[in-house]
Amino acid sequence: MHIVIIGSGPVGMTAGLLLARAGHRITLVDRDAGPVAGDDWERVGVMQFRLPHGFRSQCRTLLRDRLPDVYEAIVDAGAVVVAPPGAPDDAAMLSVRRSVLERSIWESASREPGISRVVGHVDRVEVVDGRAVGIVVDARFLAADLMVDASGRAGRLSAPHRPIRRRVDCGMAYAARLYRLRPGAEPGPGAEFVFNAQHRGFLILVFPHDHGTFTVLFVRPSEDRELAMLRDAGAFEAACRAVPGLAEWTDPERSEPIDRVRAGAGLTNEYGRQPTVAALVAIGDAVCTTNPAGGRGTALGLQSAAALADLVAADVPIEKLGAELDRWGEAELLPWYLDHVEWDTTLLASWAGRPVDPDGPIGLEVLVAAARDRHPEWMATLNLFFGMAVKPAALAPLRDEVRAMVRAGWQPAEPDGPTRDELAALIRAQLEQPIPA
Ligand SMILES: Cc1cc2nc3c(=O)[nH]c(=O)nc-3n(C[C@H](O)[C@H](O)[C@H](O)COP(=O)(O)OP(=O)(O)OC[C@H]3O[C@@H](n4cnc5c(N)ncnc54)[C@H](O)[C@@H]3O)c2cc1C
Repeated sequence: MHIVIIGSGPVGMTAGLLLARAGHRITLVDRDAGPVAGDDWERVGVMQFRLPHGFRSQCRTLLRDRLPDVYEAIVDAGAVVVAPPGAPDDAAMLSVRRSVLERSIWESASREPGISRVVGHVDRVEVVDGRAVGIVVDARFLAADLMVDASGRAGRLSAPHRPIRRRVDCGMAYAARLYRLRPGAEPGPGAEFVFNAQHRGFLILVFPHDHGTFTVLFVRPSEDRELAMLRDAGAFEAACRAVPGLAEWTDPERSEPIDRVRAGAGLTNEYGRQPTVAALVAIGDAVCTTNPAGGRGTALGLQSAAALADLVAADVPIEKLGAELDRWGEAELLPWYLDHVEWDTTLLASWAGRPVDPDGPIGLEVLVAAARDRHPEWMATLNLFFGMAVKPAALAPLRDEVRAMVRAGWQPAEPDGPTRDELAALIRAQLEQPIPA
């Protein structure tokens, strides 16, 4: 088949590589011309490109097992394989900047004999008598047997041909900054995995990457205008100095910032069914987008690329691909979308200081608090869940138990470290300092 893939992001390229190696002719279309050797890659249009990513074990095992040369190239580019303490090898993640991972996949896809590239903006998918027959790129028509929409979270190319998507605002926003360890300096606390600190009103993560780089990330409620000022570099650094653990990572003796503070907003949870026209399917963020703070997007996206390649390899007729992908998505994507919607709601409620309601949803942060407080044996199940090795339904018995605990008077303890109000006061003080002459 000649397959056109709209969007050369990690998911579109993974699908392209898998399908090309199964003997299909692939055209990858993207408005981005791709990286130039030795130059920085701007990647306008993918807002999260410079924001921190953790690539879960599902990404690593899929690439390692199905595209081993691509995986090797990513590791050669500097990706570090990191397993949670005591976990088996297959649970290991890839610690690498997204820009490094994506450049490496881009170069592999560009070398692939069965893949050609078209640089341009896809205006629309052309449909005749209920069947997609091609795409229009910068006003030129390109015919194909199968069209794959991998245009990402902002892409709406298949939208006119699809049922309305479920969509819920995450209610959270990002402020992040990239640092590099000084020569010979050791990483800070929690470096063996991802440093994660919950506070009342915000949360902090530190993502170690390749080549001694790491990103500090603050996640806050989108409506918190004061914490939004973390995008000021002075305020960001002052906040880092006030948080135990973070102060050590960002100690100027240990590391230095190598980028400006970057903001990430407009974050949503979305899930949509496949297009109803034949010969048009959607994968990756174009189907399912989840709160990035959960770090699940690429894992789900790469799996959807593999699911499509497997259905094509099994000779599923083109007319039935959408229905089969819907069946797959309802089992493998929808539960994570629903989990995120619930998790975001409960996290925002706990940040606002609302007590846990035994008759409402029980969020992940509450389960973790209950495990730490009363049920350390739950961590085994919770760790499987964090690694996405079990689905959200596996937590149902734990949630029931927490409901009983709450009815008996239990509530999560206050998190350690500065509160939201203390952090806001610190930011105000920093911003009110006179500008040096
Ligand atoms: C702030 C943030 C942080 C994240 N952190 C993580 C994380 O820690 N771990 C994780 O696994 N995931 C994370 N994600 C999710 C992850 O970034 C996505 O799941 C992933 O990028 C999806 O890949 P994709 O290929 O589907 O889409 P994208 O990467 O968005 O690629 C889409 C491509 O389509 C192209 N395109 C779009 N429209 C057109 C058009 N009309 N014509 C031509 N080309 C077009 C774009 O140029 C782009 O190249 C994060 C997301 C955000 C927003």
